[in-house]
Amino acid sequence: MGGGGSGVGRVRQGVGLTDEEKARLKKKIDFIIQTFKKVDANPTTELKYRNAYELVVATILSAQCTDRRVNAITPALFQRYPTVESLARATPEEVYEYIKTCSYPNNKAKYLVAMARKVVQEFGGRIPERARDLMRLPGVGRKSAHVIAATLYGEPVIGVDTHVFRVTRRLGLHRMRHPHQVERLLMELVPEGDRPRFHHWLILHGRYVCKARNPDCGRCLLTEICEEYKRRVQKEGDG
Ligand code: SF4
Repeated sequence: MGGGGSGVGRVRQGVGLTDEEKARLKKKIDFIIQTFKKVDANPTTELKYRNAYELVVATILSAQCTDRRVNAITPALFQRYPTVESLARATPEEVYEYIKTCSYPNNKAKYLVAMARKVVQEFGGRIPERARDLMRLPGVGRKSAHVIAATLYGEPVIGVDTHVFRVTRRLGLHRMRHPHQVERLLMELVPEGDRPRFHHWLILHGRYVCKARNPDCGRCLLTEICEEYKRRVQKEGDG
């Protein structure tokens, strides 16, 4: 109902949006969701894992490293340390030998062992299910915790990584500077049921189509709502 009179259309909400802005962005979000649903109804991570423990380990390894490299490393690592308990008994030096071909192996070996020990000591050997608990594990930041909780348990949260940040900015969903601002915006705009998939759609889109250096707009299904595309077409016309 009303909500306070004639200025209602201009009321700024949680992330500083007017009602009109929010409605316009929601339309865009809806277009993005419907478009991706048609081509890939169930997107997920490209990291290979068989259970929660393996996804947490693979996610820690994937920071600043490609999923392909992580997937090449993890089979031998999981064979040697098949459970969180076995990893908790290892030393970082031992783990290092299995992960030395990924980026920052020293730090990641320390994180992996510390993560496993914390899970054993504070969570009874079970990987926690909620993002806010996952965030307490060494090597698991906010973005990773959200991705893990959304992927494994469908928690309605969104992880904003470099791809999600870049693609949403190019599409004209925001002009923000920090991932946590974008996360708040998307949490307000993306329907709960679509949040776990939304993150994966944008990551895959950023990885394979809307690439950082050279977006492949010719293969993109989002041109009609994309601000960056409009700019590029206009520039070509002016040139
Ligand atoms: S139209 Fe181009 S810039 Fe826009 S989202 Fe698609 S690939 Fe990215």
